[in-house]
Amino acid sequence: MSLADLTIAEAGKQLRSGQATSVDLLEAVIERASFTEAQLHCYLTIDHEGARKAAESADRELAAGTDRGPLHGIPLALKDNFCTRGMTTTCSSQILAGYVPPYDATVVSRLRSGGAVIVGKTNLDEFAMGSSTENSAFGPTRNPWDPERVPGGSSGGSAAAVAVGSALGGFGSDTGGSIRQPASLCGVVGFKPTYGLVSRYGLVAFASSLDQIGPLARNVGDALTLFEAVAGHDPLDSTSYPGPVPEMRSDLEAGPKGIRVGVVTELSGEGYEPAVSTAMAEMLNRLAADGAELVEVSLPTFELALSCYYLIAPAEASANLARFDGVRYGLRVDGETVEEMMARTRAEGFGPEVIRRILLGTYSLSAGYYDAFYGQANRLRTKLIREIAEVHERVDVLVSPTSPTVAFELGAKTQDPLAMYLSDVCTIPADLAGTPAISVPVGLDHQGLPIGLQVMAPALGEAVMFRMARAVEERAGFTARPAMAGLPT
Ligand code: GLN
Repeated sequence: MSLADLTIAEAGKQLRSGQATSVDLLEAVIERASFTEAQLHCYLTIDHEGARKAAESADRELAAGTDRGPLHGIPLALKDNFCTRGMTTTCSSQILAGYVPPYDATVVSRLRSGGAVIVGKTNLDEFAMGSSTENSAFGPTRNPWDPERVPGGSSGGSAAAVAVGSALGGFGSDTGGSIRQPASLCGVVGFKPTYGLVSRYGLVAFASSLDQIGPLARNVGDALTLFEAVAGHDPLDSTSYPGPVPEMRSDLEAGPKGIRVGVVTELSGEGYEPAVSTAMAEMLNRLAADGAELVEVSLPTFELALSCYYLIAPAEASANLARFDGVRYGLRVDGETVEEMMARTRAEGFGPEVIRRILLGTYSLSAGYYDAFYGQANRLRTKLIREIAEVHERVDVLVSPTSPTVAFELGAKTQDPLAMYLSDVCTIPADLAGTPAISVPVGLDHQGLPIGLQVMAPALGEAVMFRMARAVEERAGFTARPAMAGLPT
């Protein structure tokens, strides 16, 4: 087995027992990338030099007795919408092609001070708008389980890299499902924290009231480790949660006994692939057999969450993306006047999905429509938050599939935005509510494609969410890895 296939916990043990160095780990993931990148295109940038230096320094420190904790010396992949000092940050957009930020996002500086080795920046849908990573201006990422299929999105590059071993772990951002849905389609764990637990400082904003950074990992324990390394209050983010990060480890192995599990009626039925529904039903049976209490719950507002999201997210995006004007960052296409320069820059710099979102958002915020669209969506969001809070008086966690389908073929939904948007029907409610949610792989369908189960919890309910996720993981026993052509065994 290659070092590239270790979990973070296993790699940490090898580093500390002297069986492997951080440079060995880095070389293993880079070697893996050299086999897989031509086909998968997980990375937009691999920082050979910077990563090497970080790994050498991690090794020197460990040898000298300085241990920065569980990510010390671990090679990680970061989505290319995190600002990284000295390393390009493009958001997969022509408008930011070649843009090098002068500062690190808080998440990045916390990872660096935890001794992590940043391998590079991963591909995404442009400005994180999409569910397949096909909206990247630099070409799609492919799914390591079947390169004819998408890895999901928008954090498809990080999810595929973690699945295939071109990083031991990674981070993405989730606005409507962009961590959990690709995790599900790539057979890895993906976690979106309670809104505010991870700083958004230095994350290029898509929809600020929804955006959250979170980890992608090979197992639940690694996801927790990655989360702990970056979580906690940050004065540089005004929406950062000022209280303590919940304690999540003590009950991690406590099992499902006594946990009240709400099975969401609205997230099932028509449109859900039979293999997905079956995998979930089987897992629920096993949890119930081991003492979990299953409760059918109905959250009627979930039916409207997708519409609500597609008013709020584009509205916020249209405001956030106003800063890309050809003056301050990246691309500039000249014109006779300043207005013409800005219009040309934006028309050439943004791809079609980003332009669609800006138009939708501008429309729903415009005078005469504001209250009917944006205002109404916000009232609905409040209703959804209340509905979730109420249901949690009766149940500890909610479960659903993470995605109604397994990975679909490249091109299958690119001509039909609505079909693409439906991919996030299960993940969007937790973003609107700001509540934590995780996707755990539970099996493969008849085509050998991964299926994910989503566990949601109330705000700051990470402890019970992780406990249930761990119980699911233990019962699923999912250890399969993609057997990609060209992958050395
Ligand atoms: N797929 C959703 C969208 O296109 C969610 C994206 C995300 O979470 N960043 O908006």
